[in-house]
Amino acid sequence: MHFEVFLLWMGLAGLFVGSFLNVVIYRYPLEEVTVSNPRRSRCPKCEHSLGWYENIPLVSWTIQLGRCRHCQVRIPWRYPLVEGLTSGLWVAAAFAAGSSEEWALAMVWAVVLSGLVVATFVDFDCLEIPDSVSIGGMLAGPLLSALVPALHGGSWLAVRLSEGSSQVTSMGAFTASIAGLVLGWSILAGIGWLGARAFGKEAMGFGDVKLLAAGGAFVGPGGVALALMAASVLASVAGVLNIARFYYLIRSRARRRGVPKPVRKALHVARIVGRYIPFGPYLAVGIGIALLYWNDVISWLL
Ligand SMILES: [Zn+2]
Repeated sequence: MHFEVFLLWMGLAGLFVGSFLNVVIYRYPLEEVTVSNPRRSRCPKCEHSLGWYENIPLVSWTIQLGRCRHCQVRIPWRYPLVEGLTSGLWVAAAFAAGSSEEWALAMVWAVVLSGLVVATFVDFDCLEIPDSVSIGGMLAGPLLSALVPALHGGSWLAVRLSEGSSQVTSMGAFTASIAGLVLGWSILAGIGWLGARAFGKEAMGFGDVKLLAAGGAFVGPGGVALALMAASVLASVAGVLNIARFYYLIRSRARRRGVPKPVRKALHVARIVGRYIPFGPYLAVGIGIALLYWNDVISWLL
């Protein structure tokens, strides 16, 4: 297959997978529904069942100008965002794999990235990471690593264990996967334990521990270190921006009321309310970077 055709195919598949991920994300916190029941999506306001032509990724939302065809309620822009993002990630997975011969590698990457999309948005919504993603990844990672050893083609450990062979062996990849899983689990569990001892409160959610363990099973021990570094930097930046946002909100509300709040007091309140952001989304981005580009990042750093 021509590489361009492969990229196009992955982009289209990603659009429809993204549409499915929207259903998973939207229905996750709801108790009365599952992913397969009801089969058809409904408008959350007027409950009208969506026809296939109202469910075409990106296209329907754009044609309907972001509104339900029946009751005109606004459909959040997050729906087309998740579809476009997933499609882009599937194309990126194909790109990173480099040719259509490497379709198995591209598919595993694409599926892992899709799981990370679910983890990210569910964590933003509910402050938890679904076990189906984290525990599912911890089980699937070692298995898929043995089936598609190229997943650990850049892993020092897997390459060393495959000496004498021109490519990474199943055994080498499987071992690197287990090592990544154990390291991902122990680093975050360790930080959580230290944080609990030092501050007397939970510093690390258990969902994050399971997510990095699952990611580690796909990126190996070196990838875990990279993912955690990238996640820490991103989360710090996001944390500072979040505090700045609350600071701005507090100050402008006080000004509207005509009782200006002193800078120090506003900053104090902003730091308290703005401090808590979920770590999962940044961890997911870090794992995604390690997944596709960890060799590039390492060579760039060195
Ligand atoms: Zn409606």
